[in-house]
Amino acid sequence: MSTATTLPMLIEEVEVARVERLSPSFVRVELGSPALADLGVAPNSYDQRIKLIFPSAGHALPSFAGAGEGWYGDWLARPEEERGHMRTYTIRGVSGEGVDTRLVVDIVVHEGATGPAGIWGERAAVGDRIVCTAPRRGHEYGGIEFAPGETDSLLLVGDETAVPAVAAILEQLDRGARGAVFLEVPFAADVLTIEHPEGVSVRWLPREGGPRGEALHAAVLEHLGAEAASVEVDESEIDPDLWETPLYSSSGEAEVVTGRSVGHDWHGLYAWIAGEAKVVTGLRRALVKDLGLDRHQVAFMGYWRDEARRSQ
Ligand SMILES: Cc1cc2nc3c(=O)[nH]c(=O)nc-3n(C[C@H](O)[C@H](O)[C@H](O)COP(=O)(O)OP(=O)(O)OC[C@H]3O[C@@H](n4cnc5c(N)ncnc54)[C@H](O)[C@@H]3O)c2cc1C
Repeated sequence: MSTATTLPMLIEEVEVARVERLSPSFVRVELGSPALADLGVAPNSYDQRIKLIFPSAGHALPSFAGAGEGWYGDWLARPEEERGHMRTYTIRGVSGEGVDTRLVVDIVVHEGATGPAGIWGERAAVGDRIVCTAPRRGHEYGGIEFAPGETDSLLLVGDETAVPAVAAILEQLDRGARGAVFLEVPFAADVLTIEHPEGVSVRWLPREGGPRGEALHAAVLEHLGAEAASVEVDESEIDPDLWETPLYSSSGEAEVVTGRSVGHDWHGLYAWIAGEAKVVTGLRRALVKDLGLDRHQVAFMGYWRDEARRSQ
């Protein structure tokens, strides 16, 4: 049953229709509801983000019945245990149609997970219910950042949380696309089979207990023909909400930042980089400040903040 028919987006309770453990760190859930008959996901949804709301332990899911325009403020005003936990995820795919439409989401389950989403993903079972916000057919929803324009060459970089977005982008790209992809995952067993255009190379970098982001940073700089200096990112440099795209800057940079050129011609390159905020901050500094990529050619997105390793 639809809970909020007046809104230009869906806010619906959805039920887990299928769960598949893809690998040690990825759980795929298929979420269904008759209300998803109104889902309006573009054929090229690329990195389309949605929000999922998980219940607080021991509490019922928040209800959005009759939600109107002020739904977000109303939701925030509820007591914390009643409102549950909202987190951002990527639409990995859509299957079925009409009332049998399902949203496919890949959830990273990490060792020692303390967050509600990771814990929920680890235990997800058919019949479990959460709430999702998603695009409604015929309405603008936003939430797609991948915008390469007329690029000749792509550079996609991500950690495990960005694997669903990168996998969806690669499946939907024009088959003639060219470029390179670097994906860091916790373990070699997390290397997934993903479809990609022949002209786009995909390199997986399993951490296997190694430091987060180190091999990824080095591989990206090597690919760009630059020397990989050690990645020293000071805590004060990290924006936990890091979001720098051609259209939006979380640091408020209105102008394009053009760094010191090192003699490379970056014309035609489009870089999309997402993952842990500290790692993305290090790559941003290297690419924009050191190598001189124009901010209009890049999207840097902090998908999450590693609180556990905050002081490292
Ligand atoms: C646009 C966008 C798209 C995203 N798409 C996806 C997606 O498709 N799949 C996906 O799994 N994630 C995705 N994420 C990341 C996800 O939103 C975060 O990882 C989120 O913090 C998980 O919530 P939680 O409740 O598990 O942990 P939180 O309550 O947010 O954090 C609790 C603790 O867990 C740690 N933590 C959080 N995430 C991780 C992690 N991945 N590995 C290790 N420690 C972690 C935190 O540092 C903190 O110490 C996306 C984020 C954004 C912004």
